[in-house]
Amino acid sequence: MNLVDVHCHLNHELFKADLPEVLKKAYAAGLRRILVSGVNPPNNREVLELARKHQPLIKASLGIYPIDALGIQPDAVGLPHHQGKIDLEEEFCFFEKNKTEITAIGEVGMDFHWADKEKTEVEQEHNFRKIIRFTIKLNKPIVIHSRKAENECITVLEQEIKNKEIPVIQHCFSGKKSLIHKAAELGHYFSIPPNIIKSSNFQTLVKIVPLTQLLTETDSPWLSPFSDRNEPAYVLETIKKIAELKQLSIEETAKQIWHNYERIFNA
Ligand SMILES: [Zn+2]
Repeated sequence: MNLVDVHCHLNHELFKADLPEVLKKAYAAGLRRILVSGVNPPNNREVLELARKHQPLIKASLGIYPIDALGIQPDAVGLPHHQGKIDLEEEFCFFEKNKTEITAIGEVGMDFHWADKEKTEVEQEHNFRKIIRFTIKLNKPIVIHSRKAENECITVLEQEIKNKEIPVIQHCFSGKKSLIHKAAELGHYFSIPPNIIKSSNFQTLVKIVPLTQLLTETDSPWLSPFSDRNEPAYVLETIKKIAELKQLSIEETAKQIWHNYERIFNA
C-alpha cells in the first residue's frame, strides 16, 4: 500500500530533533511521497534542501503564503521568518531556476483570518493572480490555502485558470457545502487531513467529492487527529476514514488516492 502526504511542514522546529525517526515511521506506515510546503523565501530554500537530502521520499512544493507576502507575521509559527513584504518576481526567479526539482507551487492563496479583509483584500488578490499566472507559465499544480477566503479564492481561480490547464489542490478546505460543490465542479482536488476523524466538515466534503478528486495530507505539525504533534504517518487515519465513508476497503482507497497523486503531480 503506497500512501502520500501532499502537504506538510517538516522543516518546522518541532521536527528538528527527530526528523529521521519521523521519516522512518512514515515509511513503515506506507508513505512513499511526502510533499513539504514552503511559505516564504528562507522557508522555500530549506524545503528544497530537505527534498534534495531525502530523495525520493520528500518532494518540494514551494510557495508564498498570503500573509508572509504582505509582510505580516502570525504569532510563533516555528518556521523560518521573512522580514517585510515578499518580492514576488524575485521569488519567481528562484522557482524558475529550480523548476525541475519542484513538484508543485503552494501554499498560496488568500487569508482573511490572519489579515484584515478590508485592509488587505486588494493586495492579496493582486498577489494571488500574479502567482497563478506564474504557475500556469511554469506548468505546475497549485496548492491553495484559503482560510476564511474560500469564496474569493475560487472566484479568482475560476477567472484565471481556463480549461483545467493546471491542477488545483484545495488544501484543508473549510468552505461551506455550496463552495465544495462549486470547486468540485471546476475540477479542483481536495487534500484531506487526519483530523477528518473528528471533523464533520471534512466528512461532509468526502461524501460530496468523488474519490478521483481526493488526496491525503497532514499539514504537520498542525492539525493532529490526536493530542500530539501531527506527522505524515497519520495519513493512514485519513485513508481509514475515507474508506469508511466511501464504503470501500482501505487498500482500494489507498490505491485510488495514490493513483490520483501520480496523475495530478506527474511524479
Ligand atoms: Zn500548511
